[in-house]
Amino acid sequence: MVLGYILTGVGIGGMIPAAIYLSNLSFSNGRALLLVLFLACCVLTAAGLLCIIFSVIKKRNQDALYRITHTGKDGMPLDICPKCGINITKNTQICPKCGTKIMNGKEME
Ligand SMILES: [Zn+2]
Repeated sequence: MVLGYILTGVGIGGMIPAAIYLSNLSFSNGRALLLVLFLACCVLTAAGLLCIIFSVIKKRNQDALYRITHTGKDGMPLDICPKCGINITKNTQICPKCGTKIMNGKEME
């Protein structure tokens, strides 16, 4: 995620001045070099954006997977207090926040 932002930042940061110099410069050797630099920055930006997109998709998949693996047969979350919603472990019997007695992820009256 952070790598994606850095790559995108560097890519855009290098692309803009390269594009400005490219439009002002008439020197053929300098132009070729700047064109390569500009394209490199384009690739860097694209790679950065792909990194961000990939990490967002990965995070979503992890969240979805977490929800599936941490949900009981009746659709109740297994490791969340049914009363106050605080995160608890599966073996917790009394919620540390609201004091609800929990048995197998269900609230006991
Ligand atoms: Zn609670």
